[in-house]
Amino acid sequence: METQSNVASNGEIQQQQQQTQPLTSADTTKERIKREASWPFVLFYIHLNILGLYGIFIMFTNASFLTILFTFALTFLGILGATAGAHRLWAHQTYTASTSLRVFLMLCQTIAGQGPIYRWVQTHRLHHQKFRQEVDPFYSARGFMAAQVNAQIMSYTREQQQLLSQVDMSDIEQDKVVMFQKKYYWVLYFFLHVLLPINAPLEYWGDSIAAATFVAFSLRYLIVLNVCWLINSAHFIWGLDKNFKPSDSNSVFFITKSYWPQYHYLLPNDYQSGEFGDYGSDFVTAMIRVFAALDMATDLRTISSVAVRKGLTTAVETGRPIVECIQEHATEEMNEMPKNNFLNRDRFM
Ligand SMILES: [Zn+2]
Repeated sequence: METQSNVASNGEIQQQQQQTQPLTSADTTKERIKREASWPFVLFYIHLNILGLYGIFIMFTNASFLTILFTFALTFLGILGATAGAHRLWAHQTYTASTSLRVFLMLCQTIAGQGPIYRWVQTHRLHHQKFRQEVDPFYSARGFMAAQVNAQIMSYTREQQQLLSQVDMSDIEQDKVVMFQKKYYWVLYFFLHVLLPINAPLEYWGDSIAAATFVAFSLRYLIVLNVCWLINSAHFIWGLDKNFKPSDSNSVFFITKSYWPQYHYLLPNDYQSGEFGDYGSDFVTAMIRVFAALDMATDLRTISSVAVRKGLTTAVETGRPIVECIQEHATEEMNEMPKNNFLNRDRFM
């Protein structure tokens, strides 16, 4: 998620500057893939780590119980905005949300402080398109830490900027809630991400400035950023085959859906795909089911093991691509499922 916050600092400026300069044949491969450090973001990241770690000390010595509870609540909402909102709803359209739910998730995503949803979705879609290639914004051949940290503090290459501008965002551009957030992002960011966590502990339950600043703001921001960055770097931990590339071969894992990273990168439009290595049993999936029970979320898209098996059979029999065959059976199956299939997981998994 560029960094999604890297976004916030420098991405859009670079995009504007670099999009206008198309790559020429004179560009060498090396120049095209070289990513420079984004120094404003590096400095921001160093400060956030120091202040956030100090926040742990303050949390145990100088923060009231209410501030700690408030910090956890904001952390939860921020992660919900990034996972249920930016990732599963907007990036992959795994369900349809009512306007009120989209507004709620947009506000939560703003609390997470990762840049506008628009940019989040754009970088995540590029990440999926170019998964584990050099131009994947979150790619790292050097393991988990490099993906978790380095990929977030580097600026984009010209080639990446060009690819980003080519990502299909037409569905997102139709969404008034996302476009509103994009337009007024920094105002919303200031009130929800900065002012709310610092002001509330001081104003409403008289906690110290240190607790409000270092716990409710810095520590929370540090946790949310790192947890959300895991969405893009997690496959370095949970990916069983480090050399895996989406393809139509060796796809037996589909049947059990147990190898999460591979499953998500091949079939991303399943609302039950957890960001942290699980399937169907995480709190974000549970929250989407709650939204559905309240009629705020509809058309929850999923793919049952039966559809996967049928898709594999069709692919073998016809020689057509596996993903295409599975999607076909999944769509057929979704049309026949009762609308409240999400309430009966044992039967419709
Ligand atoms: Zn994804």
